[in-house]
Amino acid sequence: MSLKELFDHISNDDLEAAKALLAGGQVKVNDADEHGMSALQHASFKGLPKMCQMLLDQGADVHWDGHEHGYTALHFAALSGSEPTVRCLLAAGARADRTNSVHRTPAQMAGFVGNHRVVALINNFIPRELIDYYTVARGQETEPKLLPSLAAPTHHLLMQVNLHPVHIVNVLRQSAQLFSHLVRVSRVLELISEREVRKPSGGNDVLAVKAHYLSCVLRSLDEARRAELKKLGSGEGEATEVDQKELAEKVYSHMSRAWLRCNDSMVEEYQENYLRGCIKSFPCRETPLFQQLVANLARAPPAAVETSALGLLSAAINGQRAFQDEKQCFACGEEGATKRCAQCRGVQYCGRECQRVHWFTHKKFCAVLKQRVIEQERRAAAAAAAEAAATAGGEAAALPAADGAATVPEGEDDDPGQGPVQAAGQGPAQNAGQGVAQAAGQGAAQDAPLNQPVAGEAR
Ligand SMILES: [Zn+2]
Ligand SMILES: [Zn+2]
Repeated sequence: MSLKELFDHISNDDLEAAKALLAGGQVKVNDADEHGMSALQHASFKGLPKMCQMLLDQGADVHWDGHEHGYTALHFAALSGSEPTVRCLLAAGARADRTNSVHRTPAQMAGFVGNHRVVALINNFIPRELIDYYTVARGQETEPKLLPSLAAPTHHLLMQVNLHPVHIVNVLRQSAQLFSHLVRVSRVLELISEREVRKPSGGNDVLAVKAHYLSCVLRSLDEARRAELKKLGSGEGEATEVDQKELAEKVYSHMSRAWLRCNDSMVEEYQENYLRGCIKSFPCRETPLFQQLVANLARAPPAAVETSALGLLSAAINGQRAFQDEKQCFACGEEGATKRCAQCRGVQYCGRECQRVHWFTHKKFCAVLKQRVIEQERRAAAAAAAEAAATAGGEAAALPAADGAATVPEGEDDDPGQGPVQAAGQGPAQNAGQGVAQAAGQGAAQDAPLNQPVAGEAR
């Protein structure tokens, strides 16, 4: 009876009542119902991270496998689609490789019900111990491979879901620690990759490929860093504290330009070749994920986003269908980019900084894209007018479609008179750059050639 009560409290998300019941002692935290479902599994299925954390704190077994269909708490959380719940269980040590009675892992179940963000979250989760292992001197070593202070930022880097190289350099320049130890961290990432592929019982291929890729990016950034140091006249010597920041900005600017530069067909050719090079240098060639990736690359024309090296790498690591519905930033690949170029409205960014860094290459295509967007809108308006005419009856249907086509449909909130960046309509930007972008949208930043007034657009 008490167990049913506990499940009811969980269903009602009544944290205090559940806690009080457990404190009373009549019901144990790992008791299971007639289907073998534990309280933690129930809370996971309901997608309640706080409730899960409370149960874990009370000693709930995250590995409980008594469910009649072999589901774990993580399977249930994956089905719920609640990212905080999934994160909570992963942090508590939930295993992502457990399968249920139909041989599905939690990530597979999440993919099955369309929770693609959860798939990416599970695939990219790395236990902190895996990094901490390298912070202790082993065997003959006099010092550890990784300074303990580098463990947290390295862990953060390795858990990034967005693999766009511009995003990676963004993460790095925000950590002075990482940025001044690029080679060390790169080596540790390579060791993590090797360790996974060498595991006799079969390691985590996703982690192996990802750690290798990140290691490549870090090495390239270190090369750029050395080149910048030379330019600054510091030779191979170490820069001062202040210089490090300036240096990071220079490396960011140099590398993002290289990766974002488009050829005449608007393809980021250098980035494509760079990423292909990174993937192909993966040392363990018999790894199934690597073979699949290389086969896909060989087949893919590198023009479309989905079949670019970045698209294929992201799909291999984050799950096939992740992000397809999301608006990605044209500079750094972050999802939920809500600011559009006011001139063409054909590209979107996560913020002002990304627009600025992309402008040098976008400006060559801005006018072309603008025409394209106008043409698309014209066609959409014509189709809408034709449809409206068809429903209105024969008389209206005889009207020439071009009449309707001349106007842009109402409801598009792009006032061309504003600044270079403006909201694409979904509300506030979801990342840290929002303040800047918002300000830019009001015309605050008057510097770049981006701020040309946009006259009579599509009218
Ligand atoms: Zn961005
Ligand atoms: Zn534009």
